[in-house]
Amino acid sequence: MTESWERLALCRRPDADPAWWHSVGNKGIRTARSWCARCPVAEQCLAYVMRMEEGTRHRYGVYGGLTGPERRQYADTGVRPAPNDTAGRTHGRPPSPCGTEAAYQRHLREHEPTDEACRRAHAAHVAHYRPAGSGRS
Ligand code: SF4
Ligand SMILES: [Zn+2]
Repeated sequence: MTESWERLALCRRPDADPAWWHSVGNKGIRTARSWCARCPVAEQCLAYVMRMEEGTRHRYGVYGGLTGPERRQYADTGVRPAPNDTAGRTHGRPPSPCGTEAAYQRHLREHEPTDEACRRAHAAHVAHYRPAGSGRS
């Protein structure tokens, strides 16, 4: 059974490694969160998993940006934990905004999803630095 919003799930993209959403280490969890934070159907996803997990104590994996323990806390208290998106840690410097080559490279480095603006910036970057005369026509 596939809900219609699932087709828009970022974690279904071929460049997403499902292991990130089911990892126990902080790095994988951080990566999964950074995808969830950009996912257009995060609200539907979280609502769906909260319904599915109703009454269970053990909740695994990251859904809608929340880990299992966070979803349990949400269910128990009715208060949604603040998104703890630690992606893009920059040691004090603001991260490069999307739509730049630097942001595109960061997405790759941090295993974040690439977006349209960054892909365009990267394509422009590559075109600019391609040696003159190497193109066809
Ligand atoms: S919010 Fe996260 S887990 Fe849910 S569909 Fe989007 S990427 Fe997947
Ligand atoms: Zn970007």
